[in-house]
Amino acid sequence: MATERTFSILKPDATKRNITGAVNAVIEKAALRIVGQRRIQMSRAQAETFYEIHKERPFFGELVTFMTSGPVVVQVLEGENAVARYREVMGATNPAQAAEGTIRKTFSESVGENTVHGSDSAENAKIEIAQFFEDGDIVG
Ligand code: ADP
Repeated sequence: MATERTFSILKPDATKRNITGAVNAVIEKAALRIVGQRRIQMSRAQAETFYEIHKERPFFGELVTFMTSGPVVVQVLEGENAVARYREVMGATNPAQAAEGTIRKTFSESVGENTVHGSDSAENAKIEIAQFFEDGDIVG
């Protein structure tokens, strides 16, 4: 397995509840290194572009409103098989279906406000990282 990078967002429910450190502890315990990290306020345009793939879904408006409702922490995570590893650590989209010990099972309150985003492929990780980070802001 190769070392790779994935893109992560700690969503507004995480910053609002002041649990970003607790989530980062789970990430680091899973042997993923936080090699880039920035706290930002996402604009509506940024959120709409980021979630463009979901624009026809009934929850799109709600999702954009939620993602812009407060600060988020955007991250680049690095490790062995990082894309799949992080998806495993995050747990299922709906926290009610997430496995014990996952971030969403431990911290999330609903399918919408589910604490974390993680890229679903290495290809998308590259695209998503480029949306939020300059090369010089990632230090492995
Ligand atoms: P994941 O984040 O697990 O990759 P998706 O790509 O399917 O999941 O969905 C993107 C995000 O859209 C989810 O993380 C969640 O915040 C939101 N979402 C997905 N399904 C729903 C839903 N049924 N109702 C409200 N929000 C949803």
